[in-house]
Amino acid sequence: MSVGETHPRRPAREVWVGKVRVGGDAPIVVQSMTNTDTADVAATTKQVADLWRAGSELVRVTVNNPESAAAVPRIVDKLAMMGIEVPIIGDFHYNGHQLLADEPACAEALAKYRINPGNVGFGKKKELQFAAIIETAIRHGKPVRIGVNWGSLDQGLAAQLMDENAARDQPWDAAAVLREALVRSALDSAELAADIGLTRDRIILSAKVSGVQELIAVYRDLAARSDLPLHLGLTEAGMGSKGIVASSAALAVLLQEGIGDTIRISLTPEPGASRTQEVIVAQELLQTLGLRAFTPLVTACPGCGRTTSEFFQELAQAVQEHVREKMPLWKISNPGAENLTLAVMGCVVNGPGESRHANIGISLPGTGEAPAAPVFIDGQKAVTLRGDNIAREFVALIDAYVERKFTPARTD
Ligand code: SF4
Repeated sequence: MSVGETHPRRPAREVWVGKVRVGGDAPIVVQSMTNTDTADVAATTKQVADLWRAGSELVRVTVNNPESAAAVPRIVDKLAMMGIEVPIIGDFHYNGHQLLADEPACAEALAKYRINPGNVGFGKKKELQFAAIIETAIRHGKPVRIGVNWGSLDQGLAAQLMDENAARDQPWDAAAVLREALVRSALDSAELAADIGLTRDRIILSAKVSGVQELIAVYRDLAARSDLPLHLGLTEAGMGSKGIVASSAALAVLLQEGIGDTIRISLTPEPGASRTQEVIVAQELLQTLGLRAFTPLVTACPGCGRTTSEFFQELAQAVQEHVREKMPLWKISNPGAENLTLAVMGCVVNGPGESRHANIGISLPGTGEAPAAPVFIDGQKAVTLRGDNIAREFVALIDAYVERKFTPARTD
């Protein structure tokens, strides 16, 4: 493997979630989760639609009570009426067996069930309730994600592994036993589901923790011990830059090693911020790693003492927002536009060089430079912009480039 290449993707089975393929050679799927009360049909439908428009290919909703279970088919119907067919995943804890049994329309409307082996039930009821959910999935032809989380680890299994460890000549450290408990919980639950009759092309695994190094270690182990597709995510990643950095650090290492078939970035939204941020971060992570392309990305310099105004920052932001807004249309009329590269630079030091590397780049004038902004297209200086309309003219050049380069040839 040379610099700039990722490891080959880990071979995993293929699982269909509604009309979305996960695993095998399918593109790594971006998913998200709502934070509305699922029983509030209008609010949840709106948020699912927002997440889908932002690019979420699967959306998970909490199903925690009879009201939310009854709401699921209504949400799916409303989305279909809006022309949105994003698969909806139900997230179940404690009472999933009961809700699915009482609301067959919910069981049918969901595209996948997510269950947590640590929260399926307790004591003697655990296996019965786990089996009831798996049997419902089999009856309705649905896949299941067995999603272990260290915040709700199967305590019986953890205690058993601690006892086994104590009997070793050279006991593992406590963190290694905890990792083994997470991995074993996922693998043993998958085996149990298969024994009950759920085919292996209907099982996805995850084992989430909130520590970056722990997550990497757990998923490396899980990937080596199973051929089931893996859902990646750093649980409880946190808010703002902390959540983005921690999730990206953990997931980038795994994705670079070819591990991961679907991802979610578990960001805590800042007050008033859109839930769709987690989708944008997931897309940008995959795109900056070169694994998928969703929307043209803008390279921009950080600015320094050579820039006396905020104009270049405003231009970089305006360009990024413009291409993000245009992308749903370009996806249909100008396929391939998502691979476009753009640069907005603050002065002559790195401006022309970086701009030449992009499909379209602009080098704005820094302090003391003549008030002119050369634009480079495919490495060649194409035009120099001046005056008060630089932003509008630069955006028009981008739109014209997309029309020229990414309009499919007519066949009639
Ligand atoms: S390109 Fe110019 S303005 Fe931007 S960071 Fe470099 S020196 Fe500063």
